Amino acid sequence: MIQEVIKLDANENFFIPRKFLSNLVKEVADEVDLRLYPSNEVYMLLMREISSLLNVPVESIVIGNGSDDLIALLVKILAKRGIITTNPTFRIYRWAAEVFNVKVYESMLTVNFDIDVDGILKFNDAADLCFICSPNNPTGNQFRIDDLEKLINEFRGIVVIDEAYVDFADYSAINLLSEYDNLIIIRTFSKGFGLASFRLGFLATSCELADKLRSSLPPFNVNTISVLMGVKVIKNRGIIEEAIKKLKIERERLINALSTIDGVEPFNSKANFIFFKTRINANSIYNYLCRNNVFVRKFDNPPINNHYLRVTVGTPNMNDAFINVLRKAVSL
Ligand code: PMP
Repeated sequence: MIQEVIKLDANENFFIPRKFLSNLVKEVADEVDLRLYPSNEVYMLLMREISSLLNVPVESIVIGNGSDDLIALLVKILAKRGIITTNPTFRIYRWAAEVFNVKVYESMLTVNFDIDVDGILKFNDAADLCFICSPNNPTGNQFRIDDLEKLINEFRGIVVIDEAYVDFADYSAINLLSEYDNLIIIRTFSKGFGLASFRLGFLATSCELADKLRSSLPPFNVNTISVLMGVKVIKNRGIIEEAIKKLKIERERLINALSTIDGVEPFNSKANFIFFKTRINANSIYNYLCRNNVFVRKFDNPPINNHYLRVTVGTPNMNDAFINVLRKAVSL
């Protein structure tokens, strides 16, 4: 018998109905001539939808082939000396800096996983870009707007706030865009909207900087189907919002279930995943889960390599299967 794989390692969104998305793809495929390159009108359609969704000017938006693509672009175009990143956080910022031979300055999060604004500002003279992920991957907490604002005010370079998980959170920093020229907000369709396979992300910033970034991208960098899927999911956001509401309820149930397991300490989450601490070695738990076809995320970077794991909020069935195996893993 082939055992089903419980894939809870990449923060995909299992609450968006599969059929809803496959129907939209069929609609898109019938509406466009697939033999043609993407047109400017197609890009403009999506930029207009995003503009009215976020209440930002159309010209302030840049569309990318996933937000990973945009993160790499920012480092390539804007980081001359170095970048600042926190620890723990999403690893792609560091990866991009290493690829483009730019120095990485790391600021540790506090014991409560807050940003240490003064610690970050120590690198003010050395770095051009500062990446802040809020809600933060993997810790799941969202940073306070007044901390972010202090950082944007006092950092002499550009602050990039990666809001990949904002659709599951309580607030966004997007309103700060109208006040600050040194701010970039990155978003993705992979998480809240469930379009991970389409590779569609965007950023919003000052119109001047957005112009510079757009002209640094190759033409046709995002394909027509993905762009029009972005348009369709925004137009159907009632369905998306309903799915997110269910996900958030399941998130609380999963946190509660985790907290009943001896030797496991889950943290609160404003994202579609939960970060948890383990009394016994995280690697041995991870290996036991893998052997039972349950996949979560482990970490190889200190200080979270030995006693922390991250699990995506799956469907109730997936989460129940995960909890059952985890209970066994920690009691061995
Ligand atoms: N930012 C964060 C914080 C993420 O966790 C991820 C995906 N894991 C991304 C960006 C990349 O998203 P995309 O699928 O748009 O490349």
